[in-house]
Amino acid sequence: MPENSLFSLAGKRALVTGASRGIGLTLARGLAEYGAEIVLNGRDPGRLEDARVALEKDGLKAVTAPFDVTDQNAVIEGVEAIERDVGPIDILINNAGIQRRAPLDQFKRADWDALISTNLNAVFFVGQAVARHMIPRGRGKIVNICSVQSELARPGIAPYTATKGAVKNLTKGMATDWARHGLQINGLAPGYFATEMNKALVEDKAFTEWLCKRTPAARWGQTEELIGAAVFLSSDASSFVNGHVLMVDGGITASL
Ligand code: NDP
Repeated sequence: MPENSLFSLAGKRALVTGASRGIGLTLARGLAEYGAEIVLNGRDPGRLEDARVALEKDGLKAVTAPFDVTDQNAVIEGVEAIERDVGPIDILINNAGIQRRAPLDQFKRADWDALISTNLNAVFFVGQAVARHMIPRGRGKIVNICSVQSELARPGIAPYTATKGAVKNLTKGMATDWARHGLQINGLAPGYFATEMNKALVEDKAFTEWLCKRTPAARWGQTEELIGAAVFLSSDASSFVNGHVLMVDGGITASL
């Protein structure tokens, strides 16, 4: 990659929430490969340290910042500590998320609350805490991880669908409020990827058959296939893109 590439993230620092595994870890590695220093977030310090060591072994720069994104005080303290002890956050990948599955008529209140708390409240908590530092600097990139479920419903995951639809609109709201301060806030909406979150679906042959019929690309996505979109939305290449949600879903939302 040429030094002056629009896609270069050299000299930038990116906080990735939920970076201990899955999509978050892949995006952390991808952004690091484009030059960013990574701050890995999650709840388990041990898993984060393993991830940091693996990146470091490959010559990539990363530090860890364990905190629970659903705890607003922990988020504020965590973001303050990064800004003070590590340096300014230029990019936020708001990725941490959970799934809960049950028919809607049997859905438990505790699972509803957990989904709202992790998938929606935390996007606001971390986004606001980071934006408060970005606004005085007049620049910053926030990428909220949405979902194909921001657009489409599927049986058994209505509350998850509600949170991801809300994150899509929160992304537009953040852009509407903060673009005037030089910030860019966009969404990245993955289709179906074989991570721990989707373990049960991956093991369900009938689901994969359905997915391959339903998706024009006729397969599961590989998490590495999200890196290009994340780098685009985190770099100068997207300098006039704001409030947009980029689908990376093998065409599933484009077709009936
Ligand atoms: P995983 O379950 O594999 O990983 C989730 C990550 O979030 C883990 O690192 C987990 O770390 C972290 N996390 C969960 N809760 C918290 C919390 N309260 N505080 C901090 N970190 C937390 O999921 P995926 O990688 O599949 O999903 C990542 C994002 O992508 C989610 O927002 C998901 O909704 C979205 N997405 C995923 C799709 C897919 O097909 N997989 C499709 C569309 C969207 P730890 O448990 O160690 O804290």
